[in-house]
Amino acid sequence: MQDLISEEALRRRIEEVADEINADFAGADLLNLVVVLRGGCFFGTDLAKRLTMPCRLDYIRVTSYSGDKSSGVVSLMSDIRTDIRNQPVLVVDDIIDTGFTMAWILRYLDLKSPASVHVASLLDKPARREFEVPIHYVGFIVPNVFVAGYGLDGLDDRMANIPRIVAVEPTNEEARIPPTRERLPSLH
Ligand code: 5GP
Ligand code: MG
Repeated sequence: MQDLISEEALRRRIEEVADEINADFAGADLLNLVVVLRGGCFFGTDLAKRLTMPCRLDYIRVTSYSGDKSSGVVSLMSDIRTDIRNQPVLVVDDIIDTGFTMAWILRYLDLKSPASVHVASLLDKPARREFEVPIHYVGFIVPNVFVAGYGLDGLDDRMANIPRIVAVEPTNEEARIPPTRERLPSLH
């Protein structure tokens, strides 16, 4: 196990991501945060505390099965409870890996006719992407290794409470912050 992103780096970067969201959604009446359980929980909580517009917090829980691969079948274990019809939605997840789960969630939420859907993911592992998904807000780009901590489970279900992000396998690469993107045009 090797440290990849410190608690302090997480805190600072989540503040920056929150600032971007606050600027993009400035003046919004209500933003519906849909946190993807279980992994998105720490990020969703820390991010929500820094958002300045009124936010509704809801949760969706899905599982993707296919041995150790996530490109199998997605099951909805627990749906959101709030009505997002004609409302702006921000989906908050821990990590986008193959993109399969998020692609499924976006298609599913779209059936509920929200006004808009954006995606915030604490981590992005682009090396493994198989399904193109829009990620509007990314905390860190991580190398192609299994990571854990800060709400993400390790391989043995005992690492989710580690307050930083660790690489479960050794890596020479570091986590990096993506380049700042252009502001999204008026989101609400
Ligand atoms: P995807 O469908 O994009 O391949 O990944 C789906 C989910 O698998 C992610 O939201 C995350 O919960 C989990 N996952 C993917 N990569 C990792 C990883 O490196 N570490 C942990 N703990 N979970 C991962
Ligand atoms: Mg997840």
